[in-house]
Amino acid sequence: MRVIRGLARILIACLFAGLSRECVAADGPQQRSVLVLEEADFRSPFYSEIFAGIRTAAKQNGKSNTVIYGESLDLARFPGPDYELSLVGHLKTKYAQRPIDVIVSIGVASAKFLQKRKQDIWPAAPVVYGFVPDLPETRALFLPDTTAVFARVRPTHLLTAARAIVPDLTRVVLVGEAWKNPLVYGHWKQDFAAAMPDLEVIDLSGAVLREVRSRVASLPDRSAILTSAMYSDGEGTYYAPASALARVAESANRPIIITSDTFLGRSGVGGFLLLPEIIGREAGEVAMRILDGEAPSSIAPFSGDNVRPIFDWRQLKRWNVDEANLPPGSEVRFRQPTFWEQYYWHSAIIAGVVLVQALMITILLRERRLRFMAEVEARQRMSELAHMNRRATAGEMSVSLAHELNQPLAAILINAETAQQILQSPAPDLGEIRDILNHIRRDDQRAAEVIGRLRSFLKRDPTERSELDLNATVGEVFRFLSVQALTHDVELVMQPSSADIRVKGDKIQLQQAILNLVVNGMEAVAHLPDERRRVVGRTSLTEGNLALVSIADKGDGILAEKVAEIFKPFFTTKAQGMGIGLSIAHTIVQAHGGRIWAENVPSGGVVFHVSLPLAAPR
Ligand code: ADP
Repeated sequence: MRVIRGLARILIACLFAGLSRECVAADGPQQRSVLVLEEADFRSPFYSEIFAGIRTAAKQNGKSNTVIYGESLDLARFPGPDYELSLVGHLKTKYAQRPIDVIVSIGVASAKFLQKRKQDIWPAAPVVYGFVPDLPETRALFLPDTTAVFARVRPTHLLTAARAIVPDLTRVVLVGEAWKNPLVYGHWKQDFAAAMPDLEVIDLSGAVLREVRSRVASLPDRSAILTSAMYSDGEGTYYAPASALARVAESANRPIIITSDTFLGRSGVGGFLLLPEIIGREAGEVAMRILDGEAPSSIAPFSGDNVRPIFDWRQLKRWNVDEANLPPGSEVRFRQPTFWEQYYWHSAIIAGVVLVQALMITILLRERRLRFMAEVEARQRMSELAHMNRRATAGEMSVSLAHELNQPLAAILINAETAQQILQSPAPDLGEIRDILNHIRRDDQRAAEVIGRLRSFLKRDPTERSELDLNATVGEVFRFLSVQALTHDVELVMQPSSADIRVKGDKIQLQQAILNLVVNGMEAVAHLPDERRRVVGRTSLTEGNLALVSIADKGDGILAEKVAEIFKPFFTTKAQGMGIGLSIAHTIVQAHGGRIWAENVPSGGVVFHVSLPLAAPR
């Protein structure tokens, strides 16, 4: 019941208000209508962008109830009074039931049309003129109750752009019929003369496209082509301005200055460009102000910010233009990013990976070097220790050495005395003396051998690998220690293998390892009863291409829990022991790719085994 009463009240109010449009939309916000009157076809890029700009302004105004109508007058392509009259009839009929709240007129031709025809079609609608130059001739077209946003590329703008591209410019070529339009570039003669009195101008604005193409194909240096929009070529052929420009550019041999950003990227180098979207937005914003209640007469016509210097980077490169020469505030479009800009992240990631890799390689190399140095140092230490160990052994052996030397020396002395006595006889037996001298020589050689053996044993040689006869190598050690064994009353027995066993290695080092084992064996049995004072050495071949040296004694053996420890450096159970003999033997054997281990023998004593790879595997 209450709803019906409310509706009745609105109806009565509307009747009193004379059925105004507010009442038609009484249940929603008031609908407002804008008519965009474009001088050309608004399906062309330039005019469609203007239309899009007006739409944006309406949307930004935030009042979604604005309806925008659009009409393309297309007067350039369809000139003549008959068409104009038919347009009037058509528009009158079309908009009879569609009141227009504001007209946005785009272009000079549209302004002219409104001047003559508005009264007939939309007598009450206020007008915003857009895309018109600020010239007395255009201002003269404005009707009362109107305002305007100016947009214009001045002739001097084209000249400034041309001089930025061709610094030593002497000649310009005018292309496009707008050069003849007094309301567009009509003042170019005066403007050019004021800016460059000596400038030569070739005016092709009235020429047909064919002729323009052939003329611009062979222009001299120091010239530039200044284009304005070209809709027809005077022969009745109509073009879309962008495609006309593209055809001119195809044959032109000099840079082309253009006037709209819709031409940019189509071979024009750039210039002071009209920005149609902004032209539309500026005119649309003024239209919105009028719709919001401002009187057009209270908005003074003003120049928009719709022309800006913009250039095509690719064309600048083609004509070798230094960007520093461009007019201040120039924008450069289509800039191709440098390799670094284009692949910044790829490059950064790759560089990072390479860096990390390089770092890791450096760390690895450093570690390898440190390890190598540590190895060298360890080897040096080992060799020093080994040397020490040999000297200690030699020291211990000094008694037996003296004994070994004494024997030949004593023999030499006896032989020499005997020879002296023989020589004192009246008829010395020379044959006997020769024998004696031979003995002396042999004994001397024996003494020299003892000294030589000791010397080579004590030498601090770098490792020397050669092929060795294992039986002979071990046998020498036993001979070397024979005197010491005698002194300690220990029996040394060597049982070489019947097979010829050859290994590769450093003779002195291997002998030192064996010697340490034999000396240990002798020490282990020295205090025991006679029948146990015996150390036996054996060589043999085993499975798997290995040579085996075993040194066995009949001592007390090694405590089971110490078997693993005896090869550690400085492990000793002896009061005078250094604990380095076995550790050196272990290091030497390992360095030869072999193995050393000890086994307690159940019947008493220890056997030390050294296995070594054969020089030539069988
Ligand atoms: P050192 O002889 O100066 O003690 P080694 O490294 O030659 O140093 O020997 C380490 C230890 O191994 C000895 O102190 C001893 O306890 C044990 N050992 C070595 N050889 C034998 C062996 N034939 N019988 C019993 N114990 C041994």
